[in-house]
Amino acid sequence: MGKPKAKVDKKICLACGGCISVCPQDALLMCGGRAYVHEENCISCAICIRTCPVGAISGEAY
Ligand code: SF4
Ligand code: SF4
Repeated sequence: MGKPKAKVDKKICLACGGCISVCPQDALLMCGGRAYVHEENCISCAICIRTCPVGAISGEAY
C-alpha cells in the first residue's frame, strides 16, 4: 500500500477552491460542487490539508 491519500469531507467542504489552487499535482478537482481528490495523482504532501479554511481535508498520514 502507498501512503494514505488526502480525503475531502463533502459535508464540510464549502467549495472555495483554495485546495485546488495549491495542489502541486493537480490532484484536486471540483466535482458536484465539492472538492474531490484524484487519488492516483495525490502525493500526500498535505499542502491542501493546511490550506483548507474549514478543515474539510484529512489524511491518515498527517
Ligand atoms: S495531499 Fe498534496 S498532492 Fe494530495 S491532494 Fe493534497 S495538495 Fe494535492
Ligand atoms: S479548501 Fe476546503 S472548503 Fe475549499 S474547496 Fe478545498 S476542501 Fe473545500
